[in-house]
Amino acid sequence: MKKLMAANWKMYKLRGEAAATAAALVACLAGKLPADREVLVIPPFTALGGVGEALAGAHGFALGAQNFYPSPQGAFTGEIAPEMLTDAGCRYALAGHSERRHILGEDDAMVGRKTAFGLASGLSMILCVGEKVEERQAGQLEAVLARQLTAGLADVPADVTPEALAVAYEPVWAIGTGLTAGPEEIAGAHAVVRAFLVKRFGAVGSKIRILYGGSVKPGNAGQILGIDNVDGVLVGGASLDADSFAAIVAA
Ligand code: PGA
Repeated sequence: MKKLMAANWKMYKLRGEAAATAAALVACLAGKLPADREVLVIPPFTALGGVGEALAGAHGFALGAQNFYPSPQGAFTGEIAPEMLTDAGCRYALAGHSERRHILGEDDAMVGRKTAFGLASGLSMILCVGEKVEERQAGQLEAVLARQLTAGLADVPADVTPEALAVAYEPVWAIGTGLTAGPEEIAGAHAVVRAFLVKRFGAVGSKIRILYGGSVKPGNAGQILGIDNVDGVLVGGASLDADSFAAIVAA
């Protein structure tokens, strides 16, 4: 499996800037995208069209969405159905990002519904998990990951493929703070996630990609990608600039 290098633009960028950044990213990586890497750009909904056009035809690039409501089209004011995302050219979507859990109040059960429904709708899902600082300090890392993975994957079919499912480990205390988890902390948490996936999915669980996220930057990406069980990165702040994210992709 290629390493998945994902840019989460969160609630940043108007349409013009988003399309221009995506085009610049394609230009920066033209002829330089390592063969073992896949680039995923996850812009806000309003920019999906323009970013999709900028990425169209660029080999090794994919489009993703940050969120959706786990239902077919219906009377859900303000929401987006997975079918609308695949129609807009999305191959991937996130579920359970810490900002949705902790700012928007999404619980484990909703994250599980999104993961399963997104898969059933043809999206490849990236389930995000991670502990808060007080949970880590209280020795609850494994319990928190087990709870989030159990609920997040509850209705995922046993025959899911490694192309369709990835997990992103993002310690909440390292997101947007400039604090990166150390190599031992990353290796330890990724080993916990890997063991869970193998127990849950057997041999497929050893192939499902586990991404690290939390203050990944050009200067630390190479080291992080070299850690056992790190199969990609999910990057927020440092993905907003094309040169910076291109440096991470090539790290
Ligand atoms: P960050 O965000 O890279 O800005 O820490 C990561 C994320 O929220 O996915």
